[in-house]
Amino acid sequence: MTTTALATSPLKATDRCDSCGAQAYIRVVLNEGELLFCGHHGRRHEAKLRPIAVEWHDETDKLTPQPTPVTD
Ligand SMILES: [Zn+2]
Repeated sequence: MTTTALATSPLKATDRCDSCGAQAYIRVVLNEGELLFCGHHGRRHEAKLRPIAVEWHDETDKLTPQPTPVTD
């Protein structure tokens, strides 16, 4: 069992999901290369890809909607 010690660079706004073209929030590093996914497709492919991924970089926590401050 090896823990992820690779240097991960944050995903950029210009990184796009390989499946739908939305902004990517998940980067999957495989031996053959990288895949980028939005939160939706990252979840969809997770079961298949996670076991073979060298690295799983997930920034979907950034997608958490910020509570809108209510001003009276
Ligand atoms: Zn997508």
